[in-house]
Amino acid sequence: MTGTKALYLDDASLCTSTTEILSCHPLSQLNEDEKKLAKNIPCESFAIITKETVFYPQGGGQPSDTGKITTTDASNEESSSIFRVLLVRKSTNGRIFHFGDFASTTTHPPFADGQLVSQTIDSAKRDYHSRLHTAGHIIGLAMRLLTPTLGERKKVKANHAPGEACMEFDGLLYNEHRPVIEAKVNELVQEALPVHISWWDANEVERASLNMVEGLQLGRDGRVRIAGIGDVDANPCGGTHVAHTGLTGYITIRKISRQKGVSRLSYEVPISL
Ligand SMILES: [Zn+2]
Repeated sequence: MTGTKALYLDDASLCTSTTEILSCHPLSQLNEDEKKLAKNIPCESFAIITKETVFYPQGGGQPSDTGKITTTDASNEESSSIFRVLLVRKSTNGRIFHFGDFASTTTHPPFADGQLVSQTIDSAKRDYHSRLHTAGHIIGLAMRLLTPTLGERKKVKANHAPGEACMEFDGLLYNEHRPVIEAKVNELVQEALPVHISWWDANEVERASLNMVEGLQLGRDGRVRIAGIGDVDANPCGGTHVAHTGLTGYITIRKISRQKGVSRLSYEVPISL
C-alpha cells in the first residue's frame, strides 16, 4: 500500500472530500509501530486508511484535525455509518491513519474496503490551528526583520498547539523586548500579506540557504513544500495556513522565557474572529 494522498498540502481550505476506504481495522489488528501512533486512543477504537484525505495528521507542531467519516449515501440514514475521527497520524511510510470510533458499531458494521465515504473535518478547529500555525511563521519573519534591533536570532523550535503555542530562538531575549516584537508581528498582520505554497527543487532550496528541518519528509518528486509570506519569507513546511497574514487576528506575545541559551516566545491568537 502506498502513501495516502494528502489533499491539505495543495488546498488547506478544503473541509470535505469523497474518497475510498483502503482499510478499516480494529486497533488490535495493527502492528506494534502502528499501535504506537494511536496514543491516548481507547483500545476498542478503529483505524481507517483512505485513498486520499482532507484530515491534517499531527506533526510539525500542529495538532491533528478531528471530524467524521460517513457513508456517502446520506439519504438512507438508517444504514449509514458515522465514524468519529479523534486523532490523525502519519506513519513513516506515508500512510495516514484516522483513529476513532463508530457512533454505533452494534447496528452499523465498519466500512468495507473499496467503499466510497465522505470526510468532513471540524472546520472551526482547523481554522484556529491554521491561524495559530501561520502566526508562528509571522513571528519568525518579525524576528528576522528585527535583526538590526535584536541581533540575528535563529529559529530553534516551534509549537503551534492551542494553549502552548511558542517559538524558540537562539540567544537571550527578555520581557522588555516583548512590546517591540509584538508591534512588529502585528504590523505584518495589518499588512495582510499573502501566504502561499510552492514546491521547490533541491537547487532552489540551496540557493535560498533555507534551514532544512531534520527529519522533515515533505518530498514530492524530490521537491520540498515551501510556505511563503509575500516575497519576504519562505520556509519548508508541511502544515496548513490561512490565505493572508491578516486572517490570524491580533497575535499576543504572552511571555518570554529562557532556558539553556534559548528564548521561548509564548503566543496566542483569538480562538475565533
Ligand atoms: Zn507552515
